[in-house]
Amino acid sequence: MNTEPGHTAPERVRKIIHVDMDAFYASVEQRDNPELRGKPVAVGGAEARGVVAAASYEARTYGVHSAMPSVTAKRKCPDLIFVKPRFDVYKSVSGQIREIFAEYTPLIEPLSLDEAYLDVTENLMGMEIATEIALEIRAKIKAATGLNASAGISYNKFLAKMASDLNKPNGQAVLTPRVGPRFVETLPVKKFHGVGPATAEKMHRLGIQTGADLKERDLQFLINHFGKSGPYFYGIARGIDERRVKPDRVRKSIGAEDTFAEDIHSFEPALEGLRPLVAKVWRYCQTHNIRGKTVTLKVKYSDFNQITRAKTADKPAASETEIEDIIALLLRPVFPAQKSIRLLGVTLSSLEQAGEGPTDDLQFALPLA
Ligand SMILES: [Mg+2]
Repeated sequence: MNTEPGHTAPERVRKIIHVDMDAFYASVEQRDNPELRGKPVAVGGAEARGVVAAASYEARTYGVHSAMPSVTAKRKCPDLIFVKPRFDVYKSVSGQIREIFAEYTPLIEPLSLDEAYLDVTENLMGMEIATEIALEIRAKIKAATGLNASAGISYNKFLAKMASDLNKPNGQAVLTPRVGPRFVETLPVKKFHGVGPATAEKMHRLGIQTGADLKERDLQFLINHFGKSGPYFYGIARGIDERRVKPDRVRKSIGAEDTFAEDIHSFEPALEGLRPLVAKVWRYCQTHNIRGKTVTLKVKYSDFNQITRAKTADKPAASETEIEDIIALLLRPVFPAQKSIRLLGVTLSSLEQAGEGPTDDLQFALPLA
């Protein structure tokens, strides 16, 4: 690479996707209870001080929306059906969605259970067109969960987020570097992500109604009035947003374990029990393009004491059989065992991306546990 002054490569245009589930909680409830389909549904408490956490699209046509007091919602839509939230279910659906994201990129930044930014500039599928990635992801989400997602595709987070709203529900939109700045100019500032009601009000008082108005103010003016947010507003008024997609968690190992219906006392059944666990770990490696050098065996005895035995190779394990062989090697000295075994586990660590070097600064986003 030529690093002489004047030869620095131009900053590569990023490909960011913002995925946002449509009326997430309400859609999950309608999915799981056919009687709610096609009807105005509010997830949240119906009691006097309750608040709507999410509204179905049917309810939205009555003006019901999230964060609205339940009393107001009921007045706007007398037939509104209130459903208690089931966060454990939403969390597990969110985990399913996250696993689909992880097939494409380790750079996943969730904003909540139902939306996330993905940086797919370099993606695990080697796909060029971010629009196609968004289409695939939405189709996979639909197939896996039965739910609709919308997506925004752009060259930064701000515009991707704005774009995901453009063709909602069940749609997607692209804002290219050519149209991005013009799109921002026409947008009312109160619709900007990162501009809350109070800030919008303040901007209005300063005569700033649209992105174009915002663009006319210089950086110092915006810093004077909005402090630390000044530079952000200055940038987004021009369609510029350099914020990175930050994965929320770093994956350091891939593991699987199983508690057996009957305790294990000898080598062969133990190895038999470990095979599906190795297969599971290997499957994850394959779908996420990850390899690991350290194989760890975990043995938990019936008295709940446990031991681990690990082996680190010079090169990452290249096949399922290779991991199985290492596990067999680690398992052999465990027998004869004084106590019976109730649980066995396999973990792969010292991870790296297949075909590349170590991952010291490569972060693997972990699907929700
Ligand atoms: Mg949503």
